[in-house]
Amino acid sequence: MANITQSGGPILSRRPAPGPRATKPLLLVSKKKGDTTHVKKDAARRTNIMVAKAISEAIRTTLGPRGRDKLIIDALKDVLVTNDGATIMEKINFKHPMGKLMTYVAKTQDTETGDGTTTAVVLTGELLKQAESLLNQKIHPTKIANGYALASVKALELLKANAIKIDPDDDELLEKIAVTSINSKNVVTDLISKIAVEAVKGVMTRRNGKPYIDTEYIEIEKKAGKSLRESELIKGLIINRGAEREDMPKKVENLKIALINQEFDVPKSKTDAKIRIQSPEQMATFLNQEYLLIKSMVDKLVEVGINVLLTQKEIDHVAADLMARAGIVGLKNMRRRYMPKIAKAVGASIVNTVNELTPESLGTADLLEIKVLEDKYVTFITGCKDSKTMTILLRGSGKIMMDEAERSLRDAMYVVKDVIEDELIVVGGGAIEETLANGLRDYARSIGGREQFAVEAFAKALEIVPKTLAENGGYDTITLLAQLRAKNAEENGKYYGVNPFTGKIENMYENGVIEPLRVKSQAISSATEAAVTVLRIDEMLAARRVEDYAKELARTGELPETEYDEFQAAPSM
Ligand code: ADP
Ligand code: MG
Repeated sequence: MANITQSGGPILSRRPAPGPRATKPLLLVSKKKGDTTHVKKDAARRTNIMVAKAISEAIRTTLGPRGRDKLIIDALKDVLVTNDGATIMEKINFKHPMGKLMTYVAKTQDTETGDGTTTAVVLTGELLKQAESLLNQKIHPTKIANGYALASVKALELLKANAIKIDPDDDELLEKIAVTSINSKNVVTDLISKIAVEAVKGVMTRRNGKPYIDTEYIEIEKKAGKSLRESELIKGLIINRGAEREDMPKKVENLKIALINQEFDVPKSKTDAKIRIQSPEQMATFLNQEYLLIKSMVDKLVEVGINVLLTQKEIDHVAADLMARAGIVGLKNMRRRYMPKIAKAVGASIVNTVNELTPESLGTADLLEIKVLEDKYVTFITGCKDSKTMTILLRGSGKIMMDEAERSLRDAMYVVKDVIEDELIVVGGGAIEETLANGLRDYARSIGGREQFAVEAFAKALEIVPKTLAENGGYDTITLLAQLRAKNAEENGKYYGVNPFTGKIENMYENGVIEPLRVKSQAISSATEAAVTVLRIDEMLAARRVEDYAKELARTGELPETEYDEFQAAPSM
């Protein structure tokens, strides 16, 4: 996490200077170093921990299938309802460096694995909370940091050792993973999970024998209306418009598709040429010539065998009329970004002008249908030559709902991708966290020293996951955690976790609560790194005009007058 300081905000960690100055806070007052102000030692650490705990407490209530949602009004007064950790963190837009650091943890978790963002944030907060009680027992932060680093290495090792190898062709299992990832979200879980698995499998290819999934080939289209239940996966493309003319066909089979990235019109002369027309006959001739030119362009379409024409710009209205008569569908003003995607899906080459069209440049697909969705025409192109293009059509009563459905869908697709690529899963519902905690407690006994306490604290921090699952279900956490610990230590007990619906300790593998290994390993790594970073910080420096700062220090006597004068005299850099 070397770049925390870049994206996570102005956090700097510095070791105290040796010698007599060691007890004094380090100051950065050189003009060269730039604009800084600082918060004194220890206080910085305490504040960071306090903020981390507060954030974690706030986010914790969303964890698991009985977690609640947050309604957020962002800076632009946009309202959203979400359960997604990364989204919540991002939208809150923290000003405090600790908030920024935790947002960074959530973001990394999201980009690396697509799920487990709440877990990562909550774990960061809990690691720091546990560290705080060790600090209160006068254990040095460095010792805690070291112990945490040791514990995380061990935890990752245990995680691997307890992972289960799966068959990526087992769709039912993949669906369970998708379901676990979106269980807590406010959506039709089974349908979304099914769509996610089908879409990911639909775009899967192989590279050097290994499955390779590029989710770029999955488009998500949201159309208000109907209900989420009516969402569907389309093996092909959706274009958000209808044909240029009403009398063009609404349905075409065996498509021959041409893609032109200019307008479909007679070429306009670039210079401002004037045409002198002196008689009605001349006018007629001129118009006739233009008509013939357009007609020849449409004839060319017919000749090459095109029945669908997509252009990035306008289609001339005379041309459109002629095309309609020839049974050719024309769609204009395609989004520039979308053109290469369409080209790839149907296997066409994009050309500049009609003259460049050849039978080889055309794309193919089985079917084009133009339908009306919520009073608007939408074109569906299915059975594409390159069947590796999928479009998910999300329906729903409104934007807020569909946006959350989209976030869930992305989570689900991502975990399916993770598992197909890694073929390793772990058992959720707090089962894996408890297994790790138990393993770490054994490990702690083997190391001794102050670090031992830190490893034990780490183990305890991991139990925040089962604890929170129980708490969000409304159950007594103390009894449940004790039961869980005991059960987990038994032989064949390691798949037991908390069922937040029944308040019982159950076999989570049998309940189908499974998650990608990658989600857990990433959460543990980034939470540890963030916590360790915070523990090693002994002071915070934030941008402010250094002159003001120096003046203030001179006033309080912290900066000797001579040094202040020296500072004043120094040339600005
Ligand atoms: P995150 O953002 O961390 O993914 P979630 O709100 O999605 O947060 O909750 C994930 C947690 O919920 C995981 O620990 C997962 O194992 C657990 N979970 C999901 N479904 C169930 C279930 N049916 N029973 C118990 N735990 C579950
Ligand atoms: Mg999740």
